[in-house]
Amino acid sequence: MEKPYLLLTPGPLTTTASVKEVMLKDWCTWDDDYKMIVQEIRSMLLQLGHASEEKYTAVPIQGSGTFGVEATIGTVVPKDGKLLVLINGAYGQRIQDIAVVLGIPHRTLVFAPDQLPDSAQLNTVLEQDTEITHVAFVHCETTTGILNPLEDIVKVIKMHGRTAIVDAMSSFGGTPIAVEMLGIDYLISSANKCIQGVPGFSFVLSNSSELAKCKGNARSLSLDLYDQWQVMDKEAGKWRFTSPTHVVRAFYQALLELVEEGGVEQRHSRYVSNQQTLVRLMEQAGFKAFLPADVQSPFITTFEYLDHDLFSFEALYRFLKEKGFVIYPGKLSEVQVFRIGTIGDVREADIARLCEAVSSYVTTIQRES
Ligand SMILES: *Cc1c(COP(=O)(O)O)cnc(C)c1O
Repeated sequence: MEKPYLLLTPGPLTTTASVKEVMLKDWCTWDDDYKMIVQEIRSMLLQLGHASEEKYTAVPIQGSGTFGVEATIGTVVPKDGKLLVLINGAYGQRIQDIAVVLGIPHRTLVFAPDQLPDSAQLNTVLEQDTEITHVAFVHCETTTGILNPLEDIVKVIKMHGRTAIVDAMSSFGGTPIAVEMLGIDYLISSANKCIQGVPGFSFVLSNSSELAKCKGNARSLSLDLYDQWQVMDKEAGKWRFTSPTHVVRAFYQALLELVEEGGVEQRHSRYVSNQQTLVRLMEQAGFKAFLPADVQSPFITTFEYLDHDLFSFEALYRFLKEKGFVIYPGKLSEVQVFRIGTIGDVREADIARLCEAVSSYVTTIQRES
């Protein structure tokens, strides 16, 4: 067997042995016991988002997180609608890419990767451009780990009576989000991020009365969020097409373990401790975090390359993998960076061991020069 390693990446991430174990049983995709699990998952997701069953519905959709974003954008923006996308990283950019491919009229507001989207600028655009019907943005921009001001942005969108779409892929389940109170219309996340399941589907917490208007809008047959919702409601937990049964069962286990851990607040504190320990020890090893602490999320941290002739990310990556850790390359064009995730079944002690390994890599290159 291949050597196991801890995934210090923002999904897929390190899952517990118990989450992996429940995947050993094969489930029938339209069996009642299985469908009951699906319904229970949908209801637990609404609870996690503080959204009521009367006003919201949780709709899972097969595929990775991007499939959920594409299903949402492609289903909820009507033919005569116009989308505004706020961009400060690759995942915001991906929402625009989806609009381009699907031929959806849109415009963008672009900010630097270390800058928060500006609510005042958003306010001006919404005031001037009355054609805009929907606004989409990313909560934690995983490109850098920056945490965008969810409440402020949604407040401006709702003040102008537009529909709010949030890609909360890498934050939902890892920090409290009051979906209904904030007035978020669509919040998208996936199985393999802060809820700590394995990859295979995404889900959309949707404002039911908004989604009810979206019949026949979808630009894709399989990524039709409205239809998926209708079938799932009418047939009590049946997915339209083959569902990722093992992944769904594992996700249910992951949700139970989230409750067992003490809920989202507890998980958030663990991630915060992980991240603070990471930055402290990485700084001791000579690395500088790319973002200032006040905009940094607890989920993933970007570090600048070490200013040393012998530093090589590839060598560091191989060195750490040999010691049982996998980290993440960077995704910025102007600065040489790499990323380390602090979500998943990892604790401060794991982070400390990781940083010890990073330090010994640094000692090695210093000795060689
Ligand atoms: C992980 C992630 C996605 C989805 O990526 P997939 O590779 O399709 O799972 C989308 N947005 C953000 C912010 C993410 O972190």
